[in-house]
Parts: sequence; structure tokens; C-alpha cells
Amino acid sequence: MTTPIPTLQTAAVIQEPGPNGTVRIDNAYPVETPGKNQVLVKLAYSGVCGSEVRALLGWSNYKPVVGHEGVGIVVKIGENVSESVLGQRVGVKWLHSACGQCSECQRGSSNHCMKPAYTGVHAQGTLQQYVVADSRYLTAIPDGVADEVASPLLCGGLTMMGGIAKLDAHIPKDGWVVVSGSGGGLGHVGVQIASRLRKFRVIAVDTGSSKRELSLQCGAHEFIDFATEDVEQRVREITGEGAHACLIVSGSEAAFELAPKLVRNNGLLAIIGLPAATFNFPLAASVFAARALTVTGVMVGTERQMEELLQHAAAGVIHPTVKVEEFSAIPEIFEKLKHGQVTGRIVVRIPQ
Ligand SMILES: [Zn+2]
Ligand SMILES: [Zn+2]
Repeated sequence: MTTPIPTLQTAAVIQEPGPNGTVRIDNAYPVETPGKNQVLVKLAYSGVCGSEVRALLGWSNYKPVVGHEGVGIVVKIGENVSESVLGQRVGVKWLHSACGQCSECQRGSSNHCMKPAYTGVHAQGTLQQYVVADSRYLTAIPDGVADEVASPLLCGGLTMMGGIAKLDAHIPKDGWVVVSGSGGGLGHVGVQIASRLRKFRVIAVDTGSSKRELSLQCGAHEFIDFATEDVEQRVREITGEGAHACLIVSGSEAAFELAPKLVRNNGLLAIIGLPAATFNFPLAASVFAARALTVTGVMVGTERQMEELLQHAAAGVIHPTVKVEEFSAIPEIFEKLKHGQVTGRIVVRIPQ
């Protein structure tokens, strides 16, 4: 394996993060060298997660290069990494590395590690040709799953696996689950996981005919258009007392305000979408008590859930709807994300 590795590469670089932040394509961006336990991955595709708009707007401290849904081939290894990893097709996820020591890591939930490092935050992300990743948290991509199909499963799909796993204690086998934001990049995969893998009855909530069609194709029992229908009333009609759980996939404040009204008493609200950091959950503490509601959060999913999801994708049960675009379109894609104009998941082709 003697792939020549350049010292400079093409990368999408965020400049002046904030209200007027921009993304520039840089054709002379340095390629990093993998350190201990690390590898260098030559990327083929990367998804552009909706959460990256937080980096553009400067809502938190990110690296100049973000992206955390990368698929490519290991071309170089650092110290302490087995040579057998060279040439493997792998996924680079949001979790760059974890401590391996805390109670969450010990029980296999490294995604909830006490001292995590995230791709795009603590390490440069996947919107570049070559990315350094931690070999211990790489995901092997099974044969039969194309690069561009695997990409959006690495964050979007995995997050839905993690969120839906949280429902177990709250919902009977054929219970009702509302997926709010069902036609988006995460939501439509969530509908597939909830209905096809878990056999829950899904009420999909979103707006517009293309999102209706996609949600129903993905296995939703019912679709409610929040722009033209009374969602609370329709959920009552369908379920009697309300749904057992609501997955709030949309980051919109209206979705958070509506969610508690859609579940029955003792219901579960799972926070998956990420509104601005200053936004608090809009419900009186006394209502939580009176209605015995549970609110849970989730940060992606476990390594085990990742493997499981990719196996289901290889078997053709889970299939994300993906739009592939060229790398040069990244600045425009970020502008669209900023204005909420992206439907489904965009995956970019990395220049080879
Ligand atoms: Zn993401
Ligand atoms: Zn840990």
C-alpha cells in the first residue's frame, strides 16, 4: 500500500464564524499526520449534518473544518495501530474519541463519555480530502452499503437509533410514536427504524407533499401536516389518549412547545433536534409532575447501535434518501442549512 499522500489538500473552511460566517473552499489546506492510536483516512464522501450550521453561526467553538459523516479508506497509520487497518473502508463519526475509563464508556455508551472529543470540535472534520481519526472509534462499513448511503447513517441514522432505544421503558410493543420532523435527514430514517425494526406505530409530523410521501414510504402509519392540520387534535383522534412517546427531531421551538401536548400521561419526550443553546424546554415543572412526563436527551448512539444499523442497511431494510452534490457546492449548502432550506440529507463527493 504505497498511496502517495500530499502535504496540501482541498478543504471547506469556515471563516469568521458568527452571523456573517462564510465557508470557503481552500485548495492548499494542510494534511495532518496521525498520532498515537490515530489513522489518516482518505475520504470519498461526507454527509453535511444540519447541526453544522451551529459552527457557521459561531454558537460554539468548532474547528475551521467541520463534518462528521465521512466515509473513506485508511491510507496511513500512527503509533500503536495495527497495519491490518490499512486499506479498510471506514466511517468517521461525531465521536472522535472517548476516555474509555468513565462509567458510561465502561458500559459501552462511549457516546455519553464524561470527557469526549468530537469530530469538527476537538479534531478537524470530514469536509476535506484527508482526515485524522482515532482508530478505536472508527466504524467498519460492511460490503453492500455504498459510501454515500453509509454517510448519513454515521450521525443522522445513529442519532435516531440512540433516540429510539430510549423508548423501551415507556412504550408497549405496538405503541404510538410521534416523529416530529419526519421528512428531514434524521426524521425519515427514524420513521424506518421505529416502524420497520421496532414495529411501533408511527405518526409522522411534518409539512408538504414531498415530506408526506417520504414519511409514508418510510413506514409511517399516519402523516399529519402541521401547516394545515391541528396536530394535537389529530393525534388524539388516532391514539385516543395521546402517543406513548414523541421524538422531537425538528430543532424548531414550535415543535418543542407542541410535543408535550401530543403524548399521554406517563409519556416520553426525546430531545434529538438542537435548537439554539439559549432555548429552554417550554413546560412548567408542575405539569411534568402532574402528568408524570419524562424528558430524555440523546447524543448520537453507541458503537454497537452503529454496527446494528449498518447491518440493517446492508440487508436493505434501512435506506436513507440521499442527495449527492459536488464538494464545490458546500458554501451554498451551508447557506441553505442556515435558512432551513435543506430537505433530507445532502452528501458531498470529495474530490479524489
Ligand atoms: Zn450530526
Ligand atoms: Zn468516557
